[in-house]
Amino acid sequence: MVLEFRKDATKDSIAIIANERSKRPTVFGDKFVCPFCKGSESTTPPTEYAAPEDKNWKVRAFHNVFALVGRDGPYVEISSANNQSYAYGRHEVIVESDLHEELYHESSDTQLKFLFDVYKNRFEEFMKDEKIKYVHLFKNHGRNAGASIEHEHSQIVSFPFVPELLRREVDAAKSARENGKCLFCELLSKESENVLLENELFTAICPSFSRFANEIWIVPKAHIKSISDLNEEQEMHMMKLLKECLRRVHFVVKDYNVVYHNSPKGEELHFHIEIYPRSGYWAGVELGTGVIVNPKSEKDALTTLKAVK
Ligand SMILES: [Zn+2]
Ligand SMILES: [Zn+2]
Ligand SMILES: [Zn+2]
Repeated sequence: MVLEFRKDATKDSIAIIANERSKRPTVFGDKFVCPFCKGSESTTPPTEYAAPEDKNWKVRAFHNVFALVGRDGPYVEISSANNQSYAYGRHEVIVESDLHEELYHESSDTQLKFLFDVYKNRFEEFMKDEKIKYVHLFKNHGRNAGASIEHEHSQIVSFPFVPELLRREVDAAKSARENGKCLFCELLSKESENVLLENELFTAICPSFSRFANEIWIVPKAHIKSISDLNEEQEMHMMKLLKECLRRVHFVVKDYNVVYHNSPKGEELHFHIEIYPRSGYWAGVELGTGVIVNPKSEKDALTTLKAVK
């Protein structure tokens, strides 16, 4: 088994070689026994954390059997002299409901509260490891978004370095701060015509520079650095707005990814959520140049998403 970080010095990017991943089971439809359902707990690794509690769980976190990273070896810092290391980190699955059919955007407020509790607990637990620099919380919904099991779930994975896209966001935020500005606080005023939905604490926008058709960002109005800093009122405002955004995305395109961009350890980023609806494929231009062709403008996305009843 190979589980390694490998640096491509020509692009200054890091790949994970994880050759066990291809053995992942696919669970869609009713032909298979779902390992995420209540009653299947013995077929997965033991519970790491559950809400409201282990026996009567509604949301449950456990180690990902097909983890992208592991703790069986040390991380050797990747540098110009060293382009590989054991892929050190932690990777868990967060099952978002005890009911197989319950879709994320149908969750009750109580369920959203349990969900946030587990997100926050795992995020904080993963951040405690001193070797870890960034903890990535994300969700893949549907096959076109990379999900291999249909039962709603999120994943959380930690890295001993700040991944490329986050590095760019943190660096951009840092240079804006040197000029006395916060990029994201400023974004909310710059993109004020592209607001899809908002409540008193959070704004959901379809950014003018979206990479995906119908892309949505959820940004707290207060300058908050990570989900650890949200108070109870902010948590629920965020989860309810996310639920409504995903209801609309699901109605329009079905498959989507949600990523939570928290500040890396010791660095500052205005926390936000990015939602990528997955209706198309990246091809030669996107993959070969990094320039993304989005076939839908933010204005058209707003029209589509606002029309969902
Ligand atoms: Zn299930
Ligand atoms: Zn800010
Ligand atoms: Zn971001």
